[in-house]
Amino acid sequence: MIGFTERKFCPTCGAGVARSNELTCIAITSGELARHTREFYGGRMNVDELGIDQLVVVECQECSLIYCRFHLDSSGMKYLYDEVISSESDYDQETLRARPLVRRSVGIMNAIVGGPNSAQTRVLDFGAGRGIWAREAIARGYHVTAIELSSTRIDEMRNNGILAKPDFTADDKDFGFVYMSQVLEHLPEPLGVLKDIGARCRKDAVALVGVPNGGGMGMKLRAETRPHIRLDPYLDPFEHINCFSAKSMSELMRHAGFRSARPTDARTLLGAIVIASVATLSKLTNAPGRFFVKT
Ligand SMILES: [Zn+2]
Repeated sequence: MIGFTERKFCPTCGAGVARSNELTCIAITSGELARHTREFYGGRMNVDELGIDQLVVVECQECSLIYCRFHLDSSGMKYLYDEVISSESDYDQETLRARPLVRRSVGIMNAIVGGPNSAQTRVLDFGAGRGIWAREAIARGYHVTAIELSSTRIDEMRNNGILAKPDFTADDKDFGFVYMSQVLEHLPEPLGVLKDIGARCRKDAVALVGVPNGGGMGMKLRAETRPHIRLDPYLDPFEHINCFSAKSMSELMRHAGFRSARPTDARTLLGAIVIASVATLSKLTNAPGRFFVKT
């Protein structure tokens, strides 16, 4: 049986689930979503073994985060990321696809922190996946720590010379730059994770955070007469269990001790870089990056 866990609190602001509105509730193990899930994972996801049969999506009244009330438990997550997903795609193809975004964002980091020999050069790649971004940053001279849940991915990164591990160790501190792309939407407890990251950052550390842009998802779900939620870039029962709007993302980061970068940020010309780079990043991905500063 593939286990599930119930969330009793909003993972962003901590408001009780009683302070949320249910947006949709549909069957996972039968019907349209079950068929779609089998197809989406190429038959590798054993839908009949799922320990829950309903997808319940709610919207927090406090911070407007849309989230799945039930999600895979830790062994279910391991099954998903190690067995179902890890065999998905070819490394070289993935690198080629990601290269424009990776090069651009490493270049932006370089401009913000002032090069690999400045005081802010300890870099964290959180949710590093296959280490494509970390590899590029290392090639530019940076000291990168890569944290990743999947043991298959960790092995792959270590084979590529990346310092990769599943959890932080005591010497992981004083990070000056954090890269977190397509991670927060996957996490059962994003606030706890971000607080931990924040505690390991220098004051004024910069975080580049990219999540699928889920603004408008609430309106879309409310307008539906017949729920047809699928595994899409914004919300699904297995991987994308948090759906952020600009507002809920800012709230989450604020609770974790980060503020949005402002155009008036003069330090290291961050403001100018932010303005110039958000537009560029938006062109390269459907998940525009946003910059935050550790307070
Ligand atoms: Zn909330």
